[in-house]
Amino acid sequence: MSIESPAMHNNQPMVEMSGVGKSYGTHRVLQEFNLAVFPSEVVSLIGPSGSGKTTALRCINFLETYDEGTVRIKGEPVGYAVDARGVRRPQSRKELAQVRRPTTMVFQQFNLWPHMTALENVVAPLVLGRGMARDAAQRKARAVLERVGLGAKTESYPAKLSGGQQQRVGIARALSVDPEVMLLDEPTSALDPELVGEVLDVINELAAEGMTMVMVTHEMDFAYEVSSRIVFMEAGQIVEAGSREILRAPATDRLKQFLTPRRRRLPAALDAA
Ligand code: ADP
Ligand code: MG
Repeated sequence: MSIESPAMHNNQPMVEMSGVGKSYGTHRVLQEFNLAVFPSEVVSLIGPSGSGKTTALRCINFLETYDEGTVRIKGEPVGYAVDARGVRRPQSRKELAQVRRPTTMVFQQFNLWPHMTALENVVAPLVLGRGMARDAAQRKARAVLERVGLGAKTESYPAKLSGGQQQRVGIARALSVDPEVMLLDEPTSALDPELVGEVLDVINELAAEGMTMVMVTHEMDFAYEVSSRIVFMEAGQIVEAGSREILRAPATDRLKQFLTPRRRRLPAALDAA
């Protein structure tokens, strides 16, 4: 199943996955996966645990290899290059770094270094990964930490920060590379409920500013609020996709079933949106 917004056909997709397939041994975790994400779109991947959401997301910037199909970022193939004779070969580290450059990832478990301050957690990848001069990296890090509301926490170590603050450092680190597309894997699912809001507020602001995002989430009311499109996956395939309205009026029984317990748990949130 392919999903595209008709109004956006004139633009080049920021991310395009076509016919992507992946297996772990005999277990097929992605099948014929097609997705095009256009500039400034927010696409939410939803679905039961184990349906392949994380795998699909990580294939976008080749944090995960794929076996079949193609992934393109701004039109450039990711992970594999095809030579003049049509033979596919793995890209070199340098080629991969180049095509991945517009993307950035926000992880479920924050992935901060515990022995580094908030500032250093942002500075280190800029210096080590992108070759930025240290003083420029520090200026950049202060600016992005300020942007996520952590201007006063630059010298704090992760252990002294709440989960919500830690994830905001994770978002600041992701922003520090001036990404064109952010990939977010359940950015709030490791947080205590009372800390979810501050992280969703930051993501919402970025979306409002036009950041292109692909996000895996279980926060259905937030997905409804922020998404241009929703993709519902099961067993490595897209079962239903469309505008956020599919959350209110699912066409398939599977999506209906998937949403039912959530609607019971979060009736006010969905109905107020
Ligand atoms: P989701 O994010 O939707 O919960 P995942 O993409 O993490 O799903 O996983 C999809 C399927 O792939 C699951 O059945 C999972 O157990 C399997 N899987 C994920 N990573 C690995 C791995 N490194 N080795 C083997 N199986 C894996
Ligand atoms: Mg996952």
